[in-house]
Amino acid sequence: MPASKTTEGGESWYLSDISPADKPWDIHRAQSDEIAKIYDLIGYDRYAERIGECAEWLTYALQAKDDGEVKLRLRDARFCRVRHCLICQWRKSLMWRARFFKALPEIQKAFPTGRWIFVTLTVKNCELSELRVTLTWMNAAWQRLTQRKVFPALGFIKSVEVTRGIDGTAHPHFHCLMLVPAGYFTRGYISHAKWQELWQSCLKTDYSPIVDVRVVKSKTTSSNDGLDASNDAMAEAVCETLKYAVKPSDLLADPHWLDELTKQLQKTRTISIGGCLKKFFSEDDPEDLINGEIEEEEKAETESFVTFDWSTIAQRYKKNSE
Ligand SMILES: [Zn+2]
Repeated sequence: MPASKTTEGGESWYLSDISPADKPWDIHRAQSDEIAKIYDLIGYDRYAERIGECAEWLTYALQAKDDGEVKLRLRDARFCRVRHCLICQWRKSLMWRARFFKALPEIQKAFPTGRWIFVTLTVKNCELSELRVTLTWMNAAWQRLTQRKVFPALGFIKSVEVTRGIDGTAHPHFHCLMLVPAGYFTRGYISHAKWQELWQSCLKTDYSPIVDVRVVKSKTTSSNDGLDASNDAMAEAVCETLKYAVKPSDLLADPHWLDELTKQLQKTRTISIGGCLKKFFSEDDPEDLINGEIEEEEKAETESFVTFDWSTIAQRYKKNSE
């Protein structure tokens, strides 16, 4: 997060030395270089070019406060928005998490006795070439599930994750964060076995799919500002739900896999929000990939700007000397 003390007067010109909290920029940008190379290799010239130019520079505000403390805060950058760009994927997950924690106090105010459960719904691995039809089928099953009388959620956030099997197959699954009424644990409780049975009947499979159900024990049930939640099980479930759709190591593992995955996931939706949670998140909001941080902005006394450029040689962001 671009909000840490800088080592004023220090020797280094590198962003991650000046602001260690910004080290993820180096990591994700280096991975973007790798994926750009792979895209170039498999004939996606335009993607390669766009990803190569993603976040080539970062402009930060240097905020000096009364007490002399200096903070770095990201002010401007250009993102390529290619689906599998590792920088954009990371920024998107940060943005979604920030949006969620910003909305959480409002949600808790509207549903003070509501509880959260975290459900993962899976199917057997499929051939990568079957991924798109498999996701269509899973989404239809999800639709059926939400229409069942026993479906307990007042609202939900659902995301799609695809992992790569060691044999090159695809393992698509849903992560679902559900807001359930307090009565779920007394009257409407669904056991693990029952969840499995339900998901199977919605999928209409002859096998019992793997399902994982967890109660999200949040200590933040009443008067809080949502930020407390960053330490507890809630944050863990949110991070798991609102993370990447495909993990970086899987994207980088095999060019042919990436090629087919890119085709299969074209124009598919990763995150969907339903029920009572819809009104807290507008899905049409323009995606703000710059302000992906949870913390509140503090008022700065003075502000100046500093730009860091990506150095493909150093594989680090370096202060622009001009
Ligand atoms: Zn990008």
